[in-house]
Amino acid sequence: MYVEDTIVAQATAPGRGAVAIVRISGRDAIKILSSIWRPLSEKALRPRELRLGDVVDPLTGVQIDRALATVMRAPKSLTGEDVAEIQCHGGSYVARRIVALAMARGARMAEPGEFSRRAFLNGRIDLVAAEAVADLVEARSEAALRQALAQLSGALSERLERLRDEVIGIRAHLEAEIDFSDEDIALPSRAEIAAAIGRLRSEVATLADTFTRGRIVREGIHAAIVGKANAGKSSILNLMLGTQRAIVTATPGTTRDVIEDSVAIGTLALTLADTAGIRESADEIERLGIERSARAASDADLLVVVFDSSRSFEDDDMRIIELAAGRLGLALLNKRDLPQHLTVAKLRERGLELPALVVSALIPEDAGRIRAELERTADALTAPPSADRVAISRERHREALLRAARSLEAAQNSACDAMPPEMIAVDIMAAGDALGQITGAVTSEDVLDAVFREFCIGK
Ligand code: GDP
Repeated sequence: MYVEDTIVAQATAPGRGAVAIVRISGRDAIKILSSIWRPLSEKALRPRELRLGDVVDPLTGVQIDRALATVMRAPKSLTGEDVAEIQCHGGSYVARRIVALAMARGARMAEPGEFSRRAFLNGRIDLVAAEAVADLVEARSEAALRQALAQLSGALSERLERLRDEVIGIRAHLEAEIDFSDEDIALPSRAEIAAAIGRLRSEVATLADTFTRGRIVREGIHAAIVGKANAGKSSILNLMLGTQRAIVTATPGTTRDVIEDSVAIGTLALTLADTAGIRESADEIERLGIERSARAASDADLLVVVFDSSRSFEDDDMRIIELAAGRLGLALLNKRDLPQHLTVAKLRERGLELPALVVSALIPEDAGRIRAELERTADALTAPPSADRVAISRERHREALLRAARSLEAAQNSACDAMPPEMIAVDIMAAGDALGQITGAVTSEDVLDAVFREFCIGK
């Protein structure tokens, strides 16, 4: 449902800053601005012009701030409605005071994401672009920024629209079959329709498969540092972060909670989580920590597995090798500055498959070697399998694509089984709707609520 009232919110982050922006959108936006802000010169404010004026409380005549203001007329504005913005001095009190003035003149405080929701409802942006704006704000790496910009500029939306057009094309063939079945016109054969659905289904599935890559680019790579107690996991984390973030002690079993922080690896963000040491333990609290480590390890995109090369091979090392079986990552034989008792060859003999480096957490230069190896693994995780760089990055997109693929599979089966065209058309329509939900070409209040709930107020 489209509510036509006027909304207001601070568009900039709360707190102190040089400038804060108060945004008003809706039918009365410009009227409200004129009632609380007066340009210094007599000339009327023209759309898209930035002018200096005074913010004044219309009830008391008291000046609140000297501030720039601009207006954008519907439909060529951020929201597609009349929009007014005041760029005031960036104290949180000033901005809140101006928001309150606008509310006293009839505006309502905007819900989270309500400006973007109105932009969507007025056809200014599609859902993928709205989400891309949120991703741009959240971007923590060059790769995340590039991906958000590509989605904002429509690369993913165009791909989805093309797929949806193909669905519509197939549906048109089926409808022709329904309408003209008695007449003598050349229609594609069932085998041709089944083949076309099959091709489309594999394209949809390929796009769904880009999720891991797209998510990693958006969120960064999650790596878990695992190893037995005292192997040097916290020291390796500190070495990589260049700080004393994790507590390092000589007593085994001190990192009971998962500690994590991010570093830049190439163009990506890498979040390293230090986990409790993996070992047999009788201590209840430590056991909980170990369980959490195992979970962090299984959730991680890659593992950094730390062994203590100054000690001989132990049972706990075997547990780590088993944990790392079949996973992506890097093995570190730590403490190379001490007399060596464990070699890469020995670990290979016991089944270690990961690439391995012999390092020391106490030798700063080793951070560079670890980083270079992690960069190689990260590239392997995010390299597109072909020149096609379009990727989805949200669970919402993946779910819709999988739903579309399932409907196409059902349609393909019906086409192969020579079912009536009406039957095939039902699944084809469901596939088209699922694709349309990603861009918002087909939508419901629930989908919109879910998308815009994630946004902050003022966006
Ligand atoms: P964690 O339990 O695996 O997190 O291990 P810590 O990082 O807490 O390290 C355990 C002990 O090993 C501490 O006394 C560290 O100072 C020491 N340590 C860690 N890495 C090295 C290293 O490369 N060389 C030496 N000599 N000691 C290290």
